[in-house]
Amino acid sequence: MMTLDVEELRRRLWRRYREIREPWMRWMLRIQDEALSALRDFLRGEGFIEILAPIIGPVTDPGIRGAKQVSIDYYGERFKAMSSIILYKQMAATALGKVFALSPNLRLEPPETLHTGRHLAEFRQLDLEVAEAKYLDLMELGERMLIYVLRRIRRECAEELEKLGRELRIPPRPFRRLTHAEAVELLREEGFNLKHGEEIPWDAEKHISSLFQEPFWIIDYPITARGFYDREDPDRPGILRDFDLLYPEGYGEAISGGEREYEYERVLARMKARGENPEDYSWYLEMLREGIKPSAGFGIGVERLTRYLCGLKYIWDAVPFPKVPGIPSP
Ligand code: AMP
Ligand code: MG
Repeated sequence: MMTLDVEELRRRLWRRYREIREPWMRWMLRIQDEALSALRDFLRGEGFIEILAPIIGPVTDPGIRGAKQVSIDYYGERFKAMSSIILYKQMAATALGKVFALSPNLRLEPPETLHTGRHLAEFRQLDLEVAEAKYLDLMELGERMLIYVLRRIRRECAEELEKLGRELRIPPRPFRRLTHAEAVELLREEGFNLKHGEEIPWDAEKHISSLFQEPFWIIDYPITARGFYDREDPDRPGILRDFDLLYPEGYGEAISGGEREYEYERVLARMKARGENPEDYSWYLEMLREGIKPSAGFGIGVERLTRYLCGLKYIWDAVPFPKVPGIPSP
């Protein structure tokens, strides 16, 4: 945890109208704009179609660790603001093959996550899904996509990078891969008291990220660590065919993704094992029962990408109008 003056941050957030006029904000926003264009250009070149993301629905992604979902009253029904569009991506990939959306997400992250410097309560994911793809295909795509963005930013935003004092290296491919079990072992050797079968805690994520000079993957998460939609490896029960990409230098997680469960019976069993009420997911389960294509996909956080590209200490400096955990602000 870093020391953070919370009152000073609150004052800053309520005076964003002043701060947004400062030169560093212009440099950051210019880099963010270029990164968004680069992501779109790259994905169009790969044959993806951009779709519009839903903002609310009867259910949303339950796999959001300690964060709370946001409920709204929708004509007398309790609806949820999207924590991610995972359930909709599978529907769209079945119809269109390769899809992506720039999706706004709400997650009431626990107030203490303010101190990680990488959590917002409102953020955007570039979220994509590919029908008939395997998780290794998506990792290959993710590597090429990140390198494309880094090259574009270095070329088109050289002046802004220099003013921000940021040097960006282009990492060689393929990126290094650790299994989740290897990552836990490494962190234990570094003095973290971790158990197998769990998500990597925030401070350990930052630490492992700081051990590397290039982005790297953590793959094959244990089934107990993730939502019902990441596909369990048929040949290795208890292990998921999924991945996270971590930025180096302590910036932490960039991407989460994997292959998806798409068979009705399997999803139903996974929901029950996680204590979900299948009735809440009636339309989704009906869709699975009628049949959808297998798929794989991932989401990359736009503000986290911007923070990394710009070399910023805090994620709230990588978004024009930040909403941070625990501090209501405009
Ligand atoms: P997840 O499916 O929870 O891994 O979210 C997908 C991606 O969105 C992550 O890899 C991050 O890049 C980003 N993300 C998730 N939660 C947050 C948050 N609270 N604030 C900012 N970015 C986030
Ligand atoms: Mg994640």
